[in-house]
Amino acid sequence: MRYLLIVFALFSVCAAHAADGVAILVHGGAGALERGKYTPEEETEYKAALNDALNAGYDVLRDGGTALDAVEITIAMLEDSPHFNAGKGAVFTRDGRNELDASIMDGETLNAGAVAGVTTVKNPIRLARAVMEKSRHVMFARDGAEAFAQEQGLEIVDPDYFYTERRWRTLQDALEKEKKGGKHGALPVDTKFGTVGAVALDAHGNLAAGTSTGGMTMKQWGRVGDSPIIGAGTYADNNSCAVSSTGDGEFFIRLTVARDICAQVEYGGKSVAAATEDIIHKRLTAMQASGGVIVLGADGDYAMAFNSKGMFRGVKTAEEHRVAIYGNE
Ligand code: ASP
Repeated sequence: MRYLLIVFALFSVCAAHAADGVAILVHGGAGALERGKYTPEEETEYKAALNDALNAGYDVLRDGGTALDAVEITIAMLEDSPHFNAGKGAVFTRDGRNELDASIMDGETLNAGAVAGVTTVKNPIRLARAVMEKSRHVMFARDGAEAFAQEQGLEIVDPDYFYTERRWRTLQDALEKEKKGGKHGALPVDTKFGTVGAVALDAHGNLAAGTSTGGMTMKQWGRVGDSPIIGAGTYADNNSCAVSSTGDGEFFIRLTVARDICAQVEYGGKSVAAATEDIIHKRLTAMQASGGVIVLGADGDYAMAFNSKGMFRGVKTAEEHRVAIYGNE
């Protein structure tokens, strides 16, 4: 069946159906992304980076590769891009460091891998995959995660590798604001985006999801957000759907956003679109928290939803290929 249904609902929910087998969705973070924030040249750059990553993941799927491989390669490319808050280009902690979190999950087996607070691993998503496949555990943090990365022969870089002038300036502005009497720990709203994630459905009918981030500018030493938390930032189960989250991590953890969407689909019999709408536009909004998700069902239904002004996002299936930044785009 080659028909395609696209529904643009209220509040920037986009839901549709990938009719013909494989599909991949990507996000590059949600936040105060209003038209005019970027120049046309910058918009083109962001969209090109999203497109390159989307295409790389889609090629894996089209050639019969696994959803896990597609998610890993897509996220690794976005980690390598200085435009996003993951890998190179990650935001800075309050004391001027880049502490990276990532996770990945296999919808066929429910195997999962996650890492938190790493500072020298070039591609945290590859380390999350290694944790899933090469250890008995699900999650490693800080020094133990770094040691495991070395043991597994993953690419290690000097912490300076992650530095970008733009993110450093954002931290300096935030510190300055705080000195001038801002609320202690208050985060400038427009610094909370750039996390990356992907969800994929392969030709074997398997789902996978992954997420990678530098967290939030000004985060306190040792803070871990939702991105590496299985069930909050990432979840995948062939019985329901695959989800990657972005937004105010503390609230995504409290709501177990990714798992809740899958549970509503599996136990509640809801569509991917209805479950996503419930979590993002009802529950998350009721907590005055902001963010978004990309969700892909085992049947090819998908949704991209956010209650912020925008979300870097994209989808590629046999019938559809597009990337967008702003609401109603
Ligand atoms: N969810 C991420 C975190 O809380 C941040 C983001 O997605 O923008 O670490």
